Amino acid sequence: MTAAAIYLDHNATTPVDDAVLAEMWPYFSDQCGNASSPHLFGQAARAAVESARERVAMLVGVRVRDVVFTSGATEANNLAIRGVVEGAATERRQIVSCATEHPSVLAPLEILAKAGLRVDLCSVDAGGVPDMDELLSLCTAQTLLVSVMAANNETGTLAPLREIGQIARNVGAIFHTDATQMVGKLPISMSDVGAQLLSLSAHKFCGPKGVGALIVDRRVPLAPLLAGGGQERGLRSGTVNVAGCVGAGAAAQLAAETVSDEAPRLARLRDLLERRLGEVVPGTRVNGQRTQRLPNTLNMSFAGADAEAIMANMPRVAVSSGSACSTAVPEPSHVLLAMGLSAEDASSALRFSLGARTNEQHVAIAVDEVHRAVDAVRRRTGELAK
Ligand code: PMP
Repeated sequence: MTAAAIYLDHNATTPVDDAVLAEMWPYFSDQCGNASSPHLFGQAARAAVESARERVAMLVGVRVRDVVFTSGATEANNLAIRGVVEGAATERRQIVSCATEHPSVLAPLEILAKAGLRVDLCSVDAGGVPDMDELLSLCTAQTLLVSVMAANNETGTLAPLREIGQIARNVGAIFHTDATQMVGKLPISMSDVGAQLLSLSAHKFCGPKGVGALIVDRRVPLAPLLAGGGQERGLRSGTVNVAGCVGAGAAAQLAAETVSDEAPRLARLRDLLERRLGEVVPGTRVNGQRTQRLPNTLNMSFAGADAEAIMANMPRVAVSSGSACSTAVPEPSHVLLAMGLSAEDASSALRFSLGARTNEQHVAIAVDEVHRAVDAVRRRTGELAK
Protein backbone atom coordinates (compact mmCIF):
# COMPACT_ATOMS: atom_id res chain seq x y z
CA MET A 1 0.00 0.00 0.00
CA THR A 2 1.42 3.41 -0.93
CA ALA A 3 1.50 6.27 1.56
CA ALA A 4 -0.91 8.18 -0.66
CA ALA A 5 -3.58 5.51 -0.56
CA ILE A 6 -7.01 6.86 0.28
CA TYR A 7 -9.31 4.95 2.56
CA LEU A 8 -13.00 5.30 1.74
CA ASP A 9 -14.19 1.99 3.18
CA HIS A 10 -15.21 2.95 6.72
CA ASN A 11 -18.37 0.84 6.63
CA ALA A 12 -16.10 -2.21 6.34
CA THR A 13 -14.00 -1.06 9.26
CA THR A 14 -12.39 2.07 10.72
CA PRO A 15 -8.91 2.93 11.99
CA VAL A 16 -8.65 2.79 15.78
CA ASP A 17 -8.47 6.33 17.12
CA ASP A 18 -5.10 7.17 18.77
CA ALA A 19 -6.71 8.13 22.09
CA VAL A 20 -8.70 4.89 22.07
CA LEU A 21 -5.54 2.86 21.47
CA ALA A 22 -3.75 4.73 24.27
CA GLU A 23 -6.49 3.73 26.72
CA MET A 24 -6.26 0.09 25.62
CA TRP A 25 -2.47 -0.37 25.94
CA PRO A 26 -2.16 -1.00 29.70
CA TYR A 27 -4.71 -3.79 29.55
CA PHE A 28 -2.44 -5.83 27.29
CA SER A 29 0.47 -5.66 29.73
CA ASP A 30 0.69 -4.10 33.21
CA GLN A 31 -3.03 -4.39 33.86
CA CYS A 32 -3.19 -8.02 32.78
CA GLY A 33 -5.86 -9.18 35.23
CA ASN A 34 -8.79 -11.44 34.43
CA ALA A 35 -11.92 -9.44 35.16
CA SER A 36 -13.32 -12.42 37.09
CA SER A 37 -10.33 -12.70 39.47
CA PRO A 38 -10.78 -11.39 43.01
CA HIS A 39 -7.22 -10.00 43.44
CA LEU A 40 -6.14 -6.43 42.75
CA PHE A 41 -5.31 -7.06 39.11
CA GLY A 42 -8.71 -8.65 38.57
CA GLN A 43 -10.45 -5.80 40.36
CA ALA A 44 -8.72 -3.23 38.16
CA ALA A 45 -9.71 -5.14 35.04
CA ARG A 46 -13.30 -5.45 36.27
CA ALA A 47 -13.48 -1.73 37.04
CA ALA A 48 -12.20 -0.93 33.54
CA VAL A 49 -14.78 -3.20 31.92
CA GLU A 50 -17.58 -1.69 34.01
CA SER A 51 -16.51 1.83 33.12
CA ALA A 52 -16.48 0.80 29.44
CA ARG A 53 -19.97 -0.65 29.87
CA GLU A 54 -21.17 2.72 31.20
CA ARG A 55 -19.74 4.55 28.20
CA VAL A 56 -21.33 2.15 25.70
CA ALA A 57 -24.66 2.38 27.55
CA MET A 58 -24.52 6.16 27.38
CA LEU A 59 -23.98 6.13 23.60
CA VAL A 60 -27.18 4.17 22.94
CA GLY A 61 -29.27 5.45 25.84
CA VAL A 62 -29.68 2.24 27.84
CA ARG A 63 -29.15 0.95 31.38
CA VAL A 64 -25.56 -0.02 32.11
CA ARG A 65 -26.65 -3.54 33.05
CA ASP A 66 -28.23 -4.08 29.63
CA VAL A 67 -24.87 -4.03 27.81
CA VAL A 68 -23.59 -7.56 27.10
CA PHE A 69 -20.11 -7.50 25.56
CA THR A 70 -19.56 -9.90 22.64
CA SER A 71 -16.90 -10.52 20.01
CA GLY A 72 -18.69 -8.16 17.62
CA ALA A 73 -21.97 -7.69 15.83
CA THR A 74 -21.97 -11.09 14.14
CA GLU A 75 -22.07 -12.70 17.56
CA ALA A 76 -24.54 -10.11 18.86
CA ASN A 77 -26.93 -10.81 15.97
CA ASN A 78 -26.63 -14.57 16.43
CA LEU A 79 -27.18 -14.22 20.17
CA ALA A 80 -30.22 -12.02 19.66
CA ILE A 81 -31.90 -14.27 17.12
CA ARG A 82 -30.97 -17.73 18.32
CA GLY A 83 -31.10 -16.65 21.95
CA VAL A 84 -34.68 -15.40 21.67
CA VAL A 85 -35.84 -18.58 19.97
CA GLU A 86 -34.18 -20.83 22.57
CA GLY A 87 -35.09 -18.65 25.50
CA ALA A 88 -38.70 -18.06 24.55
CA ALA A 89 -41.36 -19.50 26.81
CA THR A 90 -44.13 -19.03 24.24
CA GLU A 91 -45.78 -20.89 21.41
CA ARG A 92 -44.87 -18.17 18.92
CA ARG A 93 -42.92 -19.70 16.04
CA GLN A 94 -42.47 -16.95 13.45
CA ILE A 95 -39.72 -14.40 12.85
CA VAL A 96 -40.13 -11.36 10.61
CA SER A 97 -37.03 -9.77 9.12
CA CYS A 98 -36.01 -8.03 5.93
CA ALA A 99 -34.48 -9.09 2.61
CA THR A 100 -31.62 -6.59 2.86
CA GLU A 101 -30.26 -7.64 6.27
CA HIS A 102 -26.59 -8.41 6.85
CA PRO A 103 -25.52 -12.07 6.40
CA SER A 104 -25.00 -12.31 10.18
CA VAL A 105 -28.80 -11.97 10.49
CA LEU A 106 -29.86 -13.84 7.36
CA ALA A 107 -27.66 -16.89 7.97
CA PRO A 108 -28.95 -17.69 11.49
CA LEU A 109 -32.49 -17.12 10.19
CA GLU A 110 -31.85 -19.68 7.47
CA ILE A 111 -30.69 -22.21 10.07
CA LEU A 112 -33.83 -21.61 12.12
CA ALA A 113 -36.02 -21.91 9.02
CA LYS A 114 -34.43 -25.29 8.27
CA ALA A 115 -35.19 -26.29 11.86
CA GLY A 116 -38.89 -25.60 11.25
CA LEU A 117 -39.43 -21.99 12.32
CA ARG A 118 -41.40 -19.77 10.02
CA VAL A 119 -39.21 -16.94 8.72
CA ASP A 120 -40.73 -14.16 6.61
CA LEU A 121 -38.48 -11.61 4.91
CA CYS A 122 -40.17 -8.32 4.16
CA SER A 123 -39.34 -6.77 0.77
CA VAL A 124 -37.99 -3.26 0.29
CA ASP A 125 -38.76 -0.40 -2.08
CA ALA A 126 -36.38 1.03 -4.68
CA GLY A 127 -34.65 3.05 -1.96
CA GLY A 128 -34.12 0.01 0.24
CA VAL A 129 -36.79 0.95 2.81
CA PRO A 130 -38.87 -1.96 4.17
CA ASP A 131 -42.38 -2.10 2.72
CA MET A 132 -44.31 -1.08 5.82
CA ASP A 133 -47.67 -2.43 4.61
CA GLU A 134 -46.09 -5.81 4.03
CA LEU A 135 -44.33 -5.70 7.39
CA LEU A 136 -47.60 -4.86 9.08
CA SER A 137 -49.37 -7.78 7.41
CA LEU A 138 -46.55 -10.22 8.25
CA CYS A 139 -46.64 -9.42 11.96
CA THR A 140 -49.28 -11.45 13.80
CA ALA A 141 -49.95 -13.01 17.20
CA GLN A 142 -47.58 -15.79 16.04
CA THR A 143 -44.62 -13.41 15.68
CA LEU A 144 -41.90 -14.02 18.23
CA LEU A 145 -39.27 -11.63 16.91
CA VAL A 146 -39.01 -8.75 14.46
CA SER A 147 -35.42 -8.10 13.36
CA VAL A 148 -34.75 -5.12 11.10
CA MET A 149 -31.44 -3.32 10.66
CA ALA A 150 -31.18 0.36 11.59
CA ALA A 151 -28.97 1.35 8.65
CA ASN A 152 -27.94 -0.70 5.68
CA ASN A 153 -24.20 -1.31 5.40
CA GLU A 154 -24.17 -1.14 1.59
CA THR A 155 -26.44 1.80 0.84
CA GLY A 156 -26.69 3.64 4.17
CA THR A 157 -30.51 3.58 3.92
CA LEU A 158 -32.12 4.16 7.32
CA ALA A 159 -35.17 2.17 8.39
CA PRO A 160 -38.21 3.78 10.06
CA LEU A 161 -37.32 2.12 13.37
CA ARG A 162 -39.97 3.79 15.53
CA GLU A 163 -42.76 2.64 13.22
CA ILE A 164 -41.33 -0.88 13.10
CA GLY A 165 -41.01 -0.91 16.89
CA GLN A 166 -44.65 0.10 17.18
CA ILE A 167 -45.77 -2.67 14.83
CA ALA A 168 -43.77 -5.24 16.81
CA ARG A 169 -45.16 -3.96 20.10
CA ASN A 170 -48.75 -4.09 18.82
CA VAL A 171 -48.48 -7.85 18.25
CA GLY A 172 -46.44 -8.50 21.40
CA ALA A 173 -43.26 -9.45 19.50
CA ILE A 174 -39.69 -8.69 20.56
CA PHE A 175 -37.94 -6.10 18.38
CA HIS A 176 -34.25 -6.50 17.57
CA THR A 177 -32.33 -4.01 15.48
CA ASP A 178 -28.87 -4.54 14.02
CA ALA A 179 -27.61 -1.00 14.55
CA THR A 180 -23.99 -1.84 13.68
CA GLN A 181 -23.73 0.79 10.97
CA MET A 182 -25.74 3.48 12.71
CA VAL A 183 -24.13 3.50 16.15
CA GLY A 184 -21.45 6.18 16.26
CA LYS A 185 -22.54 7.74 12.94
CA LEU A 186 -25.90 9.11 14.05
CA PRO A 187 -27.47 9.41 17.49
CA ILE A 188 -29.67 6.42 18.37
CA SER A 189 -31.49 5.54 21.57
CA MET A 190 -32.77 1.99 22.00
CA SER A 191 -35.80 2.95 24.07
CA ASP A 192 -36.65 5.79 21.67
CA VAL A 193 -37.01 3.39 18.78
CA GLY A 194 -38.83 0.80 20.90
CA ALA A 195 -36.27 -2.00 20.53
CA GLN A 196 -35.51 -4.60 23.22
CA LEU A 197 -32.36 -5.91 21.56
CA LEU A 198 -29.72 -3.89 19.70
CA SER A 199 -26.43 -5.02 18.12
CA LEU A 200 -23.34 -2.87 17.75
CA SER A 201 -19.66 -3.32 16.91
CA ALA A 202 -16.73 -1.17 18.08
CA HIS A 203 -14.66 -1.39 14.89
CA LYS A 204 -17.32 0.55 13.00
CA PHE A 205 -16.75 3.64 15.15
CA CYS A 206 -12.98 3.89 15.63
CA GLY A 207 -12.75 1.12 18.21
CA PRO A 208 -10.93 -2.20 17.87
CA LYS A 209 -12.07 -5.20 15.85
CA GLY A 210 -13.34 -8.26 17.72
CA VAL A 211 -15.50 -6.51 20.31
CA GLY A 212 -19.10 -5.40 20.23
CA ALA A 213 -22.22 -5.70 22.29
CA LEU A 214 -25.76 -6.91 22.33
CA ILE A 215 -27.93 -4.55 24.33
CA VAL A 216 -30.48 -6.71 26.10
CA ASP A 217 -33.54 -5.29 27.80
CA ARG A 218 -33.61 -7.27 31.04
CA ARG A 219 -37.21 -8.37 30.45
CA VAL A 220 -36.27 -10.34 27.32
CA PRO A 221 -35.79 -14.04 28.06
CA LEU A 222 -32.59 -14.92 26.22
CA ALA A 223 -30.65 -18.19 26.10
CA PRO A 224 -26.85 -17.94 25.73
CA LEU A 225 -24.99 -19.29 22.70
CA LEU A 226 -21.93 -20.17 24.78
CA ALA A 227 -22.10 -22.16 27.99
CA GLY A 228 -19.23 -21.86 30.45
CA GLY A 229 -18.14 -19.62 33.30
CA GLY A 230 -21.24 -17.44 33.19
CA GLN A 231 -19.60 -14.09 32.42
CA GLU A 232 -21.73 -11.20 31.12
CA ARG A 233 -24.87 -12.06 33.15
CA GLY A 234 -24.53 -15.65 31.99
CA LEU A 235 -25.26 -14.55 28.43
CA ARG A 236 -21.71 -14.70 27.10
CA SER A 237 -19.36 -17.08 28.85
CA GLY A 238 -15.64 -16.70 28.22
CA THR A 239 -12.88 -14.56 29.70
CA VAL A 240 -13.84 -10.98 29.05
CA ASN A 241 -11.77 -9.18 26.40
CA VAL A 242 -10.68 -6.42 28.78
CA ALA A 243 -8.57 -4.33 26.37
CA GLY A 244 -11.25 -4.72 23.71
CA CYS A 245 -14.02 -3.59 26.04
CA VAL A 246 -11.91 -0.62 27.17
CA GLY A 247 -11.41 0.26 23.50
CA ALA A 248 -15.14 -0.06 22.79
CA GLY A 249 -15.90 2.20 25.75
CA ALA A 250 -13.36 4.84 24.75
CA ALA A 251 -14.60 4.79 21.15
CA ALA A 252 -18.21 5.08 22.37
CA GLN A 253 -17.37 8.14 24.42
CA LEU A 254 -15.48 9.69 21.52
CA ALA A 255 -18.42 9.04 19.19
CA ALA A 256 -20.88 10.53 21.67
CA GLU A 257 -18.74 13.67 21.91
CA THR A 258 -18.08 14.11 18.19
CA VAL A 259 -21.18 12.81 16.37
CA SER A 260 -23.02 16.13 16.28
CA ASP A 261 -20.08 17.75 14.42
CA GLU A 262 -18.95 14.71 12.45
CA ALA A 263 -22.34 13.76 10.97
CA PRO A 264 -22.88 17.08 9.13
CA ARG A 265 -19.18 17.29 8.16
CA LEU A 266 -19.29 13.81 6.61
CA ALA A 267 -22.63 14.50 4.93
CA ARG A 268 -21.14 17.59 3.28
CA LEU A 269 -18.12 15.62 2.01
CA ARG A 270 -20.32 12.72 0.88
CA ASP A 271 -22.64 15.11 -0.97
CA LEU A 272 -19.63 16.73 -2.62
CA LEU A 273 -18.39 13.31 -3.73
CA GLU A 274 -21.83 12.40 -5.06
CA ARG A 275 -22.23 15.70 -6.91
CA ARG A 276 -18.75 15.70 -8.46
CA LEU A 277 -18.98 12.08 -9.60
CA GLY A 278 -22.38 12.82 -11.12
CA GLU A 279 -20.87 15.81 -12.95
CA VAL A 280 -17.74 14.20 -14.36
CA VAL A 281 -18.76 10.59 -14.93
CA PRO A 282 -21.68 9.97 -17.28
CA GLY A 283 -24.13 7.15 -16.58
CA THR A 284 -24.13 7.14 -12.79
CA ARG A 285 -27.01 6.40 -10.46
CA VAL A 286 -27.23 6.63 -6.71
CA ASN A 287 -28.50 3.49 -5.00
CA GLY A 288 -30.44 3.80 -1.79
CA GLN A 289 -32.68 6.34 -0.21
CA ARG A 290 -31.11 9.78 -0.49
CA THR A 291 -32.83 11.59 2.32
CA GLN A 292 -32.85 9.14 5.19
CA ARG A 293 -29.29 7.88 4.77
CA LEU A 294 -26.12 7.49 6.81
CA PRO A 295 -24.15 10.73 6.46
CA ASN A 296 -20.94 8.96 5.39
CA THR A 297 -22.24 6.53 2.75
CA LEU A 298 -22.61 6.74 -1.03
CA ASN A 299 -23.53 3.75 -3.17
CA MET A 300 -23.26 4.47 -6.88
CA SER A 301 -23.61 2.39 -10.05
CA PHE A 302 -21.51 3.15 -13.13
CA ALA A 303 -23.45 1.85 -16.15
CA GLY A 304 -21.51 -0.57 -18.29
CA ALA A 305 -18.50 -0.79 -15.97
CA ASP A 306 -17.95 -3.76 -13.68
CA ALA A 307 -17.22 -2.71 -10.09
CA GLU A 308 -14.38 -5.21 -9.62
CA ALA A 309 -12.75 -3.94 -12.83
CA ILE A 310 -13.12 -0.30 -11.71
CA MET A 311 -11.46 -1.10 -8.38
CA ALA A 312 -8.62 -2.93 -10.13
CA ASN A 313 -8.01 0.26 -12.12
CA MET A 314 -7.75 2.52 -9.07
CA PRO A 315 -5.55 0.71 -6.56
CA ARG A 316 -4.93 3.95 -4.63
CA VAL A 317 -8.53 4.30 -3.57
CA ALA A 318 -10.01 1.78 -1.15
CA VAL A 319 -13.74 1.37 -1.68
CA SER A 320 -15.99 -1.63 -1.72
CA SER A 321 -18.16 -3.47 -4.20
CA GLY A 322 -21.16 -4.93 -2.46
CA SER A 323 -20.41 -5.58 1.19
CA ALA A 324 -16.89 -6.49 2.26
CA CYS A 325 -18.25 -9.32 4.36
CA SER A 326 -19.40 -11.18 1.28
CA THR A 327 -16.74 -10.37 -1.29
CA ALA A 328 -15.75 -14.05 -1.34
CA VAL A 329 -19.11 -14.59 -3.02
CA PRO A 330 -18.87 -13.34 -6.61
CA GLU A 331 -22.61 -12.69 -6.91
CA PRO A 332 -24.22 -9.25 -7.20
CA SER A 333 -25.27 -7.71 -3.90
CA HIS A 334 -28.46 -9.22 -2.46
CA VAL A 335 -29.26 -5.75 -1.11
CA LEU A 336 -29.22 -4.05 -4.52
CA LEU A 337 -31.09 -6.94 -6.16
CA ALA A 338 -33.80 -6.70 -3.47
CA MET A 339 -34.11 -2.98 -4.33
CA GLY A 340 -34.95 -3.97 -7.90
CA LEU A 341 -31.61 -3.33 -9.62
CA SER A 342 -30.72 -5.59 -12.54
CA ALA A 343 -27.79 -7.94 -11.96
CA GLU A 344 -25.76 -5.74 -14.32
CA ASP A 345 -26.48 -2.49 -12.47
CA ALA A 346 -25.82 -4.19 -9.15
CA SER A 347 -22.47 -5.49 -10.44
CA SER A 348 -21.44 -1.96 -11.41
CA ALA A 349 -22.00 -0.50 -7.93
CA LEU A 350 -19.30 0.91 -5.67
CA ARG A 351 -19.75 1.79 -2.03
CA PHE A 352 -17.85 4.84 -0.79
CA SER A 353 -17.86 5.22 2.99
CA LEU A 354 -16.16 8.21 4.59
CA GLY A 355 -14.73 8.54 8.08
CA ALA A 356 -12.96 10.64 10.68
CA ARG A 357 -9.81 11.21 8.63
CA THR A 358 -11.54 11.90 5.30
CA ASN A 359 -11.09 15.41 3.94
CA GLU A 360 -11.89 17.39 0.81
CA GLN A 361 -8.60 16.50 -0.82
CA HIS A 362 -9.40 12.79 -0.48
CA VAL A 363 -12.73 13.42 -2.16
CA ALA A 364 -11.08 15.31 -5.04
CA ILE A 365 -8.52 12.56 -5.61
CA ALA A 366 -11.17 9.86 -5.42
CA VAL A 367 -13.31 11.64 -8.03
CA ASP A 368 -10.32 11.84 -10.43
CA GLU A 369 -9.36 8.22 -9.87
CA VAL A 370 -12.89 6.89 -10.28
CA HIS A 371 -13.39 9.00 -13.40
CA ARG A 372 -10.19 7.64 -14.93
CA ALA A 373 -10.89 4.05 -13.90
CA VAL A 374 -14.47 4.02 -15.18
CA ASP A 375 -13.33 5.50 -18.50
CA ALA A 376 -10.65 2.84 -18.82
CA VAL A 377 -13.06 0.00 -18.05
CA ARG A 378 -15.71 1.34 -20.42
CA ARG A 379 -13.20 1.78 -23.21
CA ARG A 380 -12.04 -1.75 -22.75
CA THR A 381 -15.55 -3.15 -22.69
CA GLY A 382 -16.44 -1.17 -25.79
CA GLU A 383 -18.88 1.13 -23.99
CA LEU A 384 -19.03 4.82 -24.84
CA ALA A 385 -18.16 7.07 -21.93
CA LYS A 386 -20.52 9.74 -23.21
N1 PMP B 1 -24.18 -6.03 10.76
C1 PMP B 1 -23.85 -5.08 9.89
C2 PMP B 1 -24.93 -4.19 9.34
C3 PMP B 1 -22.54 -4.92 9.48
O1 PMP B 1 -22.22 -3.97 8.60
C4 PMP B 1 -21.54 -5.78 10.01
C5 PMP B 1 -20.09 -5.65 9.60
N2 PMP B 1 -19.89 -5.65 8.22
C6 PMP B 1 -21.93 -6.76 10.92
C7 PMP B 1 -23.25 -6.85 11.28
C8 PMP B 1 -20.93 -7.72 11.51
O2 PMP B 1 -20.11 -7.05 12.44
P1 PMP B 1 -18.79 -7.68 13.03
O3 PMP B 1 -17.72 -7.40 12.02
O4 PMP B 1 -18.56 -6.96 14.30
O5 PMP B 1 -19.02 -9.13 13.25
